[in-house]
Amino acid sequence: MSKGKINVSVENIFPLIKQFLYSDHEIFLRELISNATDATVKLKHLINLGEAKVKHDNPKIEVWIDKEQGTLHIKDQGLGMTAEEVEKYINEVAFSGAEEFLDKYKEKVDNASMIGHFGLGFYSAFMVAERVDILTKSFKENTKAVKWSCDGSPEFTLEEIEKEAFGTEIVLHIAEDSKDFLEESKILELLTKYNRFNIIPIQFGEEEITEGEGDDAKTSKKPRIINNTNPAWTKKPSELTDEDYLKFYRELYPTQFEEPLFWIHLNVDYPFNLTGILYFPKMTTNVDVQKDKIQLYQNQVFVTDNVEGIVPEFLQMLRGVIDSPDIPLNVSRSYLQADASVKRIAKYISKKVSDKLASIYKDDKAEFEKKWNDIKVVIEYGMLTDDKFFERSQKYYLYPTLSEKYNTLDELKETLKANQTDKDDNLILLYTSDKTAQHGYIETAQNKGYEVLLLDTPIVPHLIQKIEGSNEKIKFARVDADHIDNLIKKEETKISKLDEESIKKLEEQIKTTVPKEYSVQMEPLDSTENPFIITQPEFMRRMKDMQMSGGGMMGMSNFPDMYNLIVNTNNPLMEKILKAKKNKEQYINQALDLAKLSQHLLKGEALTNFIKRSYDLM
Ligand code: ADP
Ligand code: MG
Repeated sequence: MSKGKINVSVENIFPLIKQFLYSDHEIFLRELISNATDATVKLKHLINLGEAKVKHDNPKIEVWIDKEQGTLHIKDQGLGMTAEEVEKYINEVAFSGAEEFLDKYKEKVDNASMIGHFGLGFYSAFMVAERVDILTKSFKENTKAVKWSCDGSPEFTLEEIEKEAFGTEIVLHIAEDSKDFLEESKILELLTKYNRFNIIPIQFGEEEITEGEGDDAKTSKKPRIINNTNPAWTKKPSELTDEDYLKFYRELYPTQFEEPLFWIHLNVDYPFNLTGILYFPKMTTNVDVQKDKIQLYQNQVFVTDNVEGIVPEFLQMLRGVIDSPDIPLNVSRSYLQADASVKRIAKYISKKVSDKLASIYKDDKAEFEKKWNDIKVVIEYGMLTDDKFFERSQKYYLYPTLSEKYNTLDELKETLKANQTDKDDNLILLYTSDKTAQHGYIETAQNKGYEVLLLDTPIVPHLIQKIEGSNEKIKFARVDADHIDNLIKKEETKISKLDEESIKKLEEQIKTTVPKEYSVQMEPLDSTENPFIITQPEFMRRMKDMQMSGGGMMGMSNFPDMYNLIVNTNNPLMEKILKAKKNKEQYINQALDLAKLSQHLLKGEALTNFIKRSYDLM
């Protein structure tokens, strides 16, 4: 046996690393499995190149727990190491890697969640083990097997041992404070989290297999392979059926019962390498949305489900996997977001999603329209936050009408141009955010032959602001923003039944009767229209809505709601008010309350008074 001292400047880095990595201890298993996988793949290559002549059929990685000894074992059938290679790769590479990590990490303790991605490698085993043994034999002919043993300090031992097969076995003598890594359930959880799509089969524990049926059924125990080495995203789209995609979704999210609406298979190899499948889930208010997130892999090894910076924010509501060896992970989040190649990846994903939406819309409009309500939030959010996506979405962003026709903006321009262009040449797009609450206003607009759009997501005020900004002659107006004739102003003179003097008298009377918050507006409307109409000017209301959902003008939400009271001077009630001797105020208050009622503004004491007054008037 030989003893040695590893040449590192920090006397004992182990306690330091342990302290720094406290929250991320579990990544040691992923690192050791990655090393075992690398060693196996390297040997496969050497065999293919004719540089190694060994039998290497279906190599696997075995993981097991020895409870009595208090050890966890990871054994591979990879290329193994000679004594010299252990000196070089473990004593120098692994330890210097650990040292480098510490140096970097001490400087910028930037984002705790990234610690696990620093590539601490082999050394991370010391986070959970008080001693680590490596039993290894190189695939090379005439080499001796060796055992390396170390307690994390720079001192190690190296001795020759008897070992038949080539490959490496790592033995972790689990430390007192890490005993949960001797639990089968814990190890299975970690293997499933990080390695369920590992490219080399991983054997851990046993599973029960039932063969035959009824009385002949026999159950036996078989070694369990915990991973699928060939997941859907690694295949070509042409090899996959819809059922395959759905099956993979269920594999990823076993607790999701709702099927995804559609999916997008990502596949690039230039200028960066990226594969993956993104699924559009049905958007619900379900909390699961938060839990089942997009998972990031590197060469089929799970890295994180925090894809911030890599996937455009609006697409983080999607599900699925992304696999890319080109995403630098040993850097902080802020660096990641500024990284040019990562930006390119985000742009690529945004474009791919947009292209896919466009192609579904083109190929199957009916299907797309059916799904519209479930996908619009993502699209609207994308339009708001990603200018390129906004531009591209013009081809498929749909404006549903109340008669359930779906139109793109271009189609709306065509069909509504003739009827809804005002005297200043603006095309006015009328919309409702709530077809029950704004029913009366909708009816008035429809009676004029106008089309009313249903735009009901909270993002809408922001979005129409942006659409108006990029389309000069388009204006949006909610149906209750003003009287319809003011929303779409045409060149027609209205005939007033009352003379100017009467209107003036009437206006004074109303102004003194109604509360100050209403600004009174006298309009000679159609005599069949309601005497009083309450409206809420578009601009103020939109700004307030915007601020409520984030954004808009600062401090707007503190403003009181502003209402206009439109008085229809042609309604017969006006003559009644003018002629009335003592009931003037009662008529005005009654008409105001009715107008409030239709805007859902009549509540509490006001409502009680209204009911009383109504009985009195009967
Ligand atoms: P990295 O994997 O990034 O190179 P590690 O610290 O994980 O860094 O490992 C250091 C080196 O030790 C590896 O590059 C490899 O040469 C060697 N090594 C580690 N584990 C094994 C293994 N199971 N079989 C063969 N070589 C290994
Ligand atoms: Mg490694």
